Amino acid sequence: MGTKGKAIVQLDVDELIRLLNKAFADEWLAYYQYWTGAQVVKGPMRGAVTAELNEHAQDELRHAGMLTERIMQLGGEFILDPADWKKLSNCSYDAPENPFVKNILDQNIKGEQCAIEVYHKLVELTRDKDIVTYNMVVEILEDEVEHEEDLQALLEDLEIAKKQK
Ligand code: FE
Ligand code: FE
Ligand code: MG
Repeated sequence: MGTKGKAIVQLDVDELIRLLNKAFADEWLAYYQYWTGAQVVKGPMRGAVTAELNEHAQDELRHAGMLTERIMQLGGEFILDPADWKKLSNCSYDAPENPFVKNILDQNIKGEQCAIEVYHKLVELTRDKDIVTYNMVVEILEDEVEHEEDLQALLEDLEIAKKQK
C-alpha cells in the first residue's frame, strides 16, 4: 500500500473499501450471470445474443480486476470467499432458469440498471475526493451504460423480428 497515495484520499477509506467490495461482488455475479446465460440461451438471434453475453462477461471480469487493484492500493482486502458474493452484493444474481432469449436479456438489463445506479453513486461519492477511484468508476460506468444499450438494442430487434412474422 502506498502511504501518500492513500493519504490524499479525502474520504473514509474503510467505508470506501467496503463499497468497492460490494461492487466487486456485483461484478463476479454479473460475470457468472452472463456466462451461464451464454451457455443456456435459446431462441431467435441466439448467435448474436450469445456473442454479446460472452463479451459482456469478459468486461465484468475485467471490472472485478480493476476493483481488486484499487482495493489493494487502498490497503484493503478484496473478498476472498465466493460465499460472500451474494451476501455483500448490491445487485445479486438471477439464475437463468428460463433460457428463452427475452428472459435472459431482461435479467441482464435489470442487472445493468442496478450496476449503473451503483457506479453513479460511486462517481458522486468520489468526485473531487479521490481522483484515482473516480476515474476508475467513471470508466466502469461508461461500460455499464454501453452494456444496457447493447442489450436493449437486441431486445428491440427481437420485437421487430416478431412483428414481421
Ligand atoms: Fe461491470
Ligand atoms: Fe455490465
Ligand atoms: Mg456490448
